[in-house]
Formats: sequence, C-alpha cells, structure tokens
Amino acid sequence: MAKKENRFRGYDIYTQAIHTGTDYDEGTGAVRRPLHMANSYKLPDDLSQVNYSSTDLLMYSRNGNANQKWLEEKIAALYNADDAIVLASGVGALHALFWTLLQSGDRVLYPNVSYMAVYRMFHELFNKKFGVETVMADMTDLEAVKKAITLGTRLVHIETPDNPTVGVTDIAAIARIAHENGALLSVDNTFASPYNQNPLELGADFVVDSLTKYINGHGDAQGGAIVSNDLETMDRIRYEAQVNVGAVISPFNAWQIFRGSVTFPLRMDRINQSAQQIAEWLEQRENVTFVSYPGLASNPGHELARGQMKNGFGGVISFGVNADDKTVEQFCAKLKVVTFAVSLGHDESLIFPQPSYDERIELYPEKFRKGFIRFSVGLESPEDIIGDLDQAFRAVGL
Ligand SMILES: *Cc1c(COP(=O)(O)O)cnc(C)c1O
Repeated sequence: MAKKENRFRGYDIYTQAIHTGTDYDEGTGAVRRPLHMANSYKLPDDLSQVNYSSTDLLMYSRNGNANQKWLEEKIAALYNADDAIVLASGVGALHALFWTLLQSGDRVLYPNVSYMAVYRMFHELFNKKFGVETVMADMTDLEAVKKAITLGTRLVHIETPDNPTVGVTDIAAIARIAHENGALLSVDNTFASPYNQNPLELGADFVVDSLTKYINGHGDAQGGAIVSNDLETMDRIRYEAQVNVGAVISPFNAWQIFRGSVTFPLRMDRINQSAQQIAEWLEQRENVTFVSYPGLASNPGHELARGQMKNGFGGVISFGVNADDKTVEQFCAKLKVVTFAVSLGHDESLIFPQPSYDERIELYPEKFRKGFIRFSVGLESPEDIIGDLDQAFRAVGL
C-alpha cells in the first residue's frame, strides 16, 4: 500500500487529533465525514481493472471499510507513523500481528507480566497448536532477556507499563537486544498511549494499542490497532490476518473511536495529572501496602519512565491493601464515584481487584500477591475520587 498522505504531519498531537482523518463530505459539504454502515461498495463497470486481494479498493467491509480507513489515518498520525491497521479489538490486533509474523519452529520471547490474552496465546495456544517456541522472560531485567534470547529469535513482545502490575520496561534497550539477535520488537503501548510514549521512536518495529481504552476513552466501543513504518509487513498483516482471518472493525465502532479520539490528548493530560495526585495520596495511607505508579519517585522504574514517557505516566495505578480478597471486594463495592468494573481508560474511574487465586499470581512480584487492586483514573474531579476512596477504605476498616 502506498504511504499515506497526511497533510497535518509535523503538527502537534492536539492539532492532529482534531484534523487528521476528517474532511468535508464531498456529497453534502457536511463538516464531518459520515458513518457508512454498508458492507459492500459499488464495483467499477470494468472488472478487469479490479485487484480483489488489494485492501486499497473499497469492495467489502472485511477487506477494508471507509470508517476504518479514516480512523487508520488518525492512529498513524498520533504515532507519527507511516501506517496503522485498525481491527475489531486490541486482542484481534495482537493476534493479527503474531499470526502474520510467526510460524512453526520460530522462537518468540514474551513477558512474565502481560495482558491475559498474550499470556494465553503464548503459554498454551501458539506453542501447542502451531509448534512455535514460546519463551517467557522478565523484560524488566535486561540480563534475563539477554540470557533468554538466541540468535534468530523471530519476535520479542513487551508491554510497558504492563497490565496489571504497571511495571516499566526499557524499550530502547530491548530493541537493541532484539535487533542484535535478528528479532523484531513489538510493544503493547495501551497503558501509556501515544500521548505519553512512542515506542516506534525508541526502536520498536510494531506497536499494538487497544483503542477500547484511552484513544476511544468513553467506554462505549471496542477496537485495536497495529502501527508501524514497515509497509511491506503491514500489507501482509492486511492480507493474511485482516482479510483472511477476519477481525476487522465495524464501521460504527470505527466511527465512535474516531469521535472519541478528537479529545484524546486533552483527556490524557488531565488523567496524567489526576493519577499522579491520587498515587501520591495513596502512598501516604497506612493500610496501603504498596503503590505501583511510574510517576512516583519511589518507583523502581521512575527514572527509566521519565526518559521514555514524554508527557506523563498514564492513568493506571496498581496498589495493595492489607486485607483478604473478600474485604477488597467489599471495598470496591462501597465506591460511589469509582465504578467497579474491568477495563481502563474510560471517562469514568474503574476499579478491579486482582484476587490472590489468579492463576498467574506466582508470576508477579511478591508484594502483588495479597490485596492487589488495579485502578484506572478517570476524568472526575481528583478530589472527589480521593474522597470516594477514603470513605470506602473507612467503610471496610482500612
Ligand atoms: C485491554 C488491553 C488489551 C486488549 O484490548 P481489547 O480491546 O480488550 O481486546 C491488550 N493489551 C492491554 C495492555 C490491554 O490493557
């Protein structure tokens, strides 16, 4: 596919978030591009000119649809990249990337702490079904990564900050180690978002971002993106994974995410500030056993995060309380401003306990094995959020 023209390239992210991917509607002059809820498009009269395997031709919505393509322009712009592929979910994007890059006999390094579906894909699916050699490594420990990697490793996949412990991994250092061994590097950038971190500028070959989270930001749509400057591989992903496996995004979800993305930098800016304030407040609280947030000076990843995260440290804080699983649940249920639900990056704050019977609990650092809570800071007043946490702590005697 040809390199996408972006006439706002080089402009600030606030300007790009508003102006890229949109235009006047040619038919009506409307100042917004429309939502096209069609699954097929009119073919040219002369079919001899049609390349059916091209995703440039709008023909059938799984091969590519107008709202998807406009959102792809926006996502590529937010990452200052040549191309983006938008699929039905973050997991759909992760799978499309791994499915295209890996084949039997290939070796992949994946992190001991990662999004659940990545763990499942590499712990039990790609290895057992397809004979991919999957090796888990602590990506926050560069010596461990050097030991685990071998020449000819195909892919190293990392996540930073990671879900759910909010640990920080050195993207530039891992990129060097990967490339020295002939491997590609993919980075799940969902927690940081392109407002705070651009792995492509730090040496990564591919970025995956769950648009369901910060870029949409309103808790009402699902989508995921792969972003890269490697146009040849991006075309292969479109062909092998999008068209022939089929996790394409619906026009409606693409339209919603496009709309949400307009205010994305503004929302991130506020979320960065509120999360910092709330993390500092939590750290002072007696029955809070630890606070994992890269913005805290006490965090082991703080210096590294200051170097690779440009505008702030994101909105997810993991913390522990000195309580059993039942008390943690009761604490979450007592909250009034904060919603007791999975996911993150919404307008509203979300809280989700990570119970001690989680099958991966042994993979997390010791302190995460008791009273561990993942908290996604939303756009409410930080004082109201703090007040809410305070009343719920008191209600359960913490
Ligand atoms: C949510 C999430 C995903 C998956 O995204 P979906 O849109 O839910 O499929 C992947 N990685 C991280 C870090 C996430 O938080």
